[in-house]
Order: sequence, then structure tokens, then C-alpha cells
Amino acid sequence: MTKILKGAPVAAALNERSIALRRTLEERGVVPTLAVVRVGERPDDLSYERGVCKRCESVGVAVRSFVLPENASEEALLDVLREVNEDAAIHGCLLFRPLPRHMDERAVCAALRGDKDVDGITQASLAGVFTGEPVGFPPCTAQAVVELLDFYGVALSGKRVTVVGRSLVVGKPAAMLLDRKNATVTMCNSRTRNLSEVCRAADVLVVAMGRRGAIGADCVKSGQVVVDVGIHVNEAGKLCGDVRGEELMDVVEALTPVPGGVGAVTTSVLVGHVVQAAARACGLEA
Ligand code: NAP
Repeated sequence: MTKILKGAPVAAALNERSIALRRTLEERGVVPTLAVVRVGERPDDLSYERGVCKRCESVGVAVRSFVLPENASEEALLDVLREVNEDAAIHGCLLFRPLPRHMDERAVCAALRGDKDVDGITQASLAGVFTGEPVGFPPCTAQAVVELLDFYGVALSGKRVTVVGRSLVVGKPAAMLLDRKNATVTMCNSRTRNLSEVCRAADVLVVAMGRRGAIGADCVKSGQVVVDVGIHVNEAGKLCGDVRGEELMDVVEALTPVPGGVGAVTTSVLVGHVVQAAARACGLEA
């Protein structure tokens, strides 16, 4: 029978770890603090922000919100980031993207200090993902994939892992983090030939394609662990993933659900990064 790898217990374990470190910081008079920087009022952003604030509250992380109108100038946003960078009481920053079209997203992301980049959006963080050095933090979703596999004791060393997708937010950093676990990683993109064959060759299949229900029974084999990163809303208004999960039941060994899989772990990873950034700032941990 296929085991369902739920995100909630993974998130709970991460939260416990964050709370323990937050208590140590508290003894030193430090309150880990996240700056939430948002331009405009996109419903998706507002809903994610609510989730982040709730998680911050449960872990004991303070939140400071910086909200600009949709038509704010790039300079106004850069001013906010300068303030965040210079305020020693702020340890991490979540900047909602995509930014409005009149802003140069690369330039804005580059303006954030690497040590406050808890969401993996700066070149410094991506360099850290590549080198393994504690510079910035990996993108939260990519790390959530690895945390989930670790939590459920999925062996990675020496195993073949196929990652479908190569975005800077999920696929590429996930591939690098899995490589760090000594997996043999194959990364696929939209030009990959014989995708189903490449998927079937894996012991662990991570799907971050952004294509609703693109992966079905023809792409898997028995004994595989399948991680579905995709999030979509179907015609019935229900959340679903890149994988046609129902087809994989009783075929693969384990599968993450959508909703309630990787997505349930992401905010805990983010909040954990804020606590870690505060610990780094006071020399407590790398
Ligand atoms: P993205 O930027 O659209 O990237 C999709 C990747 O999939 C690209 O690298 C693309 O290849 C590749 N791809 C597309 N069609 C393919 C095909 N037929 N064969 C092989 N590769 C193919 O998406 P993303 O931001 O990485 O997000 C991926 C999914 O994860 C989305 O569904 C998104 O909603 C979801 N997501 C979930 C969370 C969470 O917390 N669970 C967070 C972020 C994103 P090319 O590079 O060649 O175009």
C-alpha cells in the first residue's frame, strides 16, 4: 500500500526545533523578527502572509509588515529594503514576488542583505546552496522537499533522484540540496526527451513542473518515493498537484499529497530560517 507522506508532522518537528532555538535567543534578550514586505494586495500573497504570520506567532517570531501600494515606485521599495537592512532588530525579510511589472525584480532582490534573505532570493543565498556554505538560506520550498524526505527516513545517499523542473525557486536548488545528500541527481526541463523513462529510472522522483496532473502511472515504478511540489486549482476549485496521485496509489511506495504535503512544510522552513538568522546574527550558530 502506498504510504502518504503528510507535511503536518514534518512542520510540527521543524517548529519544535525553532521554538527551542527561539527560547535560547530569548535568554539573550533577542526576539527573532521577520519583515514582511508586500507591494499591492494580491489574494495569493495575502493568504500566504496570513499563514506565515500564524506560524510566526506559534513559534514566537515577531512580524513587522511593510506594505506599499501596487503603483509604488521602485525607489520607495528600495527605501523599505534599506530600512530592513539597517535595522538590527530585523533578522529576516520575506519579499512577495512577482513584483509589479514596472519594477526591476533582479535589482530589488539584489538590494536585500544576504544574511537577512530567509527566502533564498539573493545571489548570496543561491551561492550558499551551491557551495554548502552558511550564506543566506535556500529557497524554502526546495528545502521543504529535503526536510520531508529526511523526516520520513527516505534514504538519499547513493540513490537515483530525478527532479522534474529547473526553476531557481524549486527545481535547481532542490537538485543541489539533494546532491549534498549524496544522491545521484538528474534534473529535467521542458526539452528533456523520454521524460517518463527518466522518471521511472529514479528511486526518488521530485516533481516541480508547474503542469497540473502531468505525471501519471506511466512515469513511475513500484518502490519509488514521489514528491509532488506542484500546486494548482482544478475546475472544481480544489487544490491539486503536478502528479495524478490517484493513479499512483498502490504502485509507488510513498507519495506526498496535495494539499497537505510539501506546501504544509514551507512556512515552517521559512520561520525556522528567521530564528536561525537571529542565531547567526548573535553568533549562536552557523
Ligand atoms: P516554473 O518556474 O514554471 O518551472 C517549471 C519547470 O518545469 C521549468 O524548469 C520547466 O522547464 C519544467 N517543465 C515544464 N514542462 C516540462 C516538461 N514537459 N518536462 C520536463 N520539465 C518541464 O515553476 P516553479 O516555480 O518551479 O514551480 C513548480 C510548481 O511548484 C508549480 O506548480 C508551483 O505552483 C509549485 N510551487 C509550490 C510551492 C509549495 O510551497 N508547495 C512553492 C513554489 C512553487 P524549462 O526550464 O525548460 O521551462
